[in-house]
Amino acid sequence: MKTCDLHTHTTASDGSDTPRELIFKAVEVGLSAVAVTDHDTTKGLPEAEEAAKEASIEFIPGVELSVNFKKGNMHMLGYLMDNSNARFREVLERVQAARADRNPKILALLEGLGMPVSMKELEELSQGGQIGRPHIARAMVKKGYVKSVSEAFEKFLKRGAKAYAPKSILSPEEAIEVIRGAGGIPVLAHPFSLLTRDEAELFSIVSGLADSGLMGMECYYSEHDEAFTSMCLGIARRLGLVVTGGSDYHGKAKPHIMLGRGRGGLVVPYSCVEALLAAKVNV
Ligand code: AMP
Ligand code: ZN
Ligand code: FE
Ligand code: FE
Repeated sequence: MKTCDLHTHTTASDGSDTPRELIFKAVEVGLSAVAVTDHDTTKGLPEAEEAAKEASIEFIPGVELSVNFKKGNMHMLGYLMDNSNARFREVLERVQAARADRNPKILALLEGLGMPVSMKELEELSQGGQIGRPHIARAMVKKGYVKSVSEAFEKFLKRGAKAYAPKSILSPEEAIEVIRGAGGIPVLAHPFSLLTRDEAELFSIVSGLADSGLMGMECYYSEHDEAFTSMCLGIARRLGLVVTGGSDYHGKAKPHIMLGRGRGGLVVPYSCVEALLAAKVNV
């Protein structure tokens, strides 16, 4: 059976593989297609696309935008955008600025807690890519302030924790609109992060997004168990949404997640790619 992975991160955001390394790894693990979906940036796409040509693997360009939502974390995946679209570029720049603004705030809070981390240390860890909380967490582990990245998030970096600073970001509707405006397909990422397993509640959230132009839902995901995957597939079917799936591979930054395999049992059928490409024709 042909399989794919439509959710991955590279050194352009907080993954540890370069775009080129990731593409060759996708070939090695036997995937028929792979997408790169870095957080709030498309900087890794040209290198990935070129490597994919060389490696003869189907490549889907993407992005993962963080959006504001009242509960949990909502992320919006976008696929197959025209990268030169002016409004898309402008929104990405706005988000970059918000991120650049936020990191010093987090560092100041950590300093106040007696755990200084410098921008220079973060720059070394991010290898020139966009800096986010995972880099700060890794620096904290390196300096011995915490034992693990998850401890850093739990105690200090997650929303509401002692060294958390919000980044002013997009509404879900704005993200959907800007992705579609650039000819792309907006897909709700990892619905489990909305922190509900109640079908009626999840349906109501996703159906609201569909009214705003959402076109797909990431049903297959590393952290979705069988029951939750079925619930997502059912909701996607009822709303006529494209079904997608991915591991959210970050390389060493999330060592328990394998490319294309998630925690070991993930299988994303290639039909997800066909559905995305068919939706693209209809955009
Ligand atoms: P940021 O882009 O700075 O908002 O950070 C978001 C990133 O942090 C995402 O890639 C998540 O995978 C990662 N992340 C969020 N919560 C945790 C956690 N509890 N443990 C490890 N990584 C996390
Ligand atoms: Zn990430
Ligand atoms: Fe995400
Ligand atoms: Fe992700």
